[in-house]
Amino acid sequence: MKMVDLHRQYLGIRDEVERAMGEVIAQSAFIKGPAVGLFEQELAQWLKVRHCIACGNGTDALLLSLLAVGLQRGDEVIVPAFAFAAVAETVLLLGGVPVFADVDPRTFNIDPASVARLVSGRTRVIIPVHLFGLPCDMAALTAIAKEHGLKIIEDNAQSLGAVCRMPDGTSRYAGTVGEIGCTSFFPSKVLGCYGDGGAVFTDDDELAARIRALGSHGWFTKYDSRYVGLNSRLDTLQAAVLRVKLPRLGAWIAARRSVAARYTERMGGLPSVVTPAGAAYATHVYHQYTVRVPAECRDGLRAALAKEGIPSMVYYPGTLCEQPAYRDACVCDPAMRHAGTLPATVLSLPMDSELTDAEVERVADAVCRYFTDNEKRCHE
Ligand SMILES: *Cc1c(COP(=O)(O)O)cnc(C)c1O
Repeated sequence: MKMVDLHRQYLGIRDEVERAMGEVIAQSAFIKGPAVGLFEQELAQWLKVRHCIACGNGTDALLLSLLAVGLQRGDEVIVPAFAFAAVAETVLLLGGVPVFADVDPRTFNIDPASVARLVSGRTRVIIPVHLFGLPCDMAALTAIAKEHGLKIIEDNAQSLGAVCRMPDGTSRYAGTVGEIGCTSFFPSKVLGCYGDGGAVFTDDDELAARIRALGSHGWFTKYDSRYVGLNSRLDTLQAAVLRVKLPRLGAWIAARRSVAARYTERMGGLPSVVTPAGAAYATHVYHQYTVRVPAECRDGLRAALAKEGIPSMVYYPGTLCEQPAYRDACVCDPAMRHAGTLPATVLSLPMDSELTDAEVERVADAVCRYFTDNEKRCHE
């Protein structure tokens, strides 16, 4: 068993993928070939957003977004303390200051109350990270951003296809609520390609034009550099793979949800296991199925699963505030209570759209058995 079985998914789309890649190679339009523009249009349509600008990877998507909003040296950007490194490093690379907010331990997502505490005269941007497949509370964050004139750049690398329900009764796809949304097509993401890839979303024509130019050396027309940009493009080969996969995204998300529902049915009753929470304001796409268990038994559970050939992963083994590269250059919410408790208590179980019922039962059986055998020890 694997955490994410990419090969099994490939077998189901093999002929189409090989045909699409073969076409690109036959045309030899490796950079900015027709599949790139077509994929951008198709994904924008899927997400009901005006612009999709493909780029080299999800980290570049964040960097391009921060460049596009004109982040200046010393500007503060509020990001979650429990998340992937990209949100901190891109801010720091531009001379900005990451300000780490606490997270809600049930949803793992940035806590709007902490964000509100951290807004200062230097704050320019909030980057909510929609972690593990569940969007953040975008209504609450949008209200804070409006009140203080801040931009929202959503990190939607893990929640493509999830929906945010807004207080006015409308629904929007995660990544299309803030001024800008970012995603990654890293192979293990909900929509992954066969290498690196990413994209930026926005409804703002001017931002879209700037982001597109920034990803291409700041050019609006070739060799005419209007901004200090970078080279960040989605390969035509990757776009061709993504065009095969996009029509299946809805079905793959549905498959993830039924795996998650079965896991929760089997493990939700265990006194030592906290299964992933939903939220009234969003739908979940289960990029990860992450449980919380008492710190005393997390590594024991992980070892017991490994002994039965069941992989599991700790996302993430530390908070961003304690990383050696960031800790001297950042600000942390002094009232932080929860983010620091997660690295020792979280465990992500195998999750992808191809897991069989038998495999799901095998994982659930192994978790249940571990706690039957160790329940007392975990609570001492
Ligand atoms: C994967 C990921 C990224 C970065 O994406 P890359 O394509 O690997 O650069 C950024 N943020 C989050 C939350 C991610 O999960």
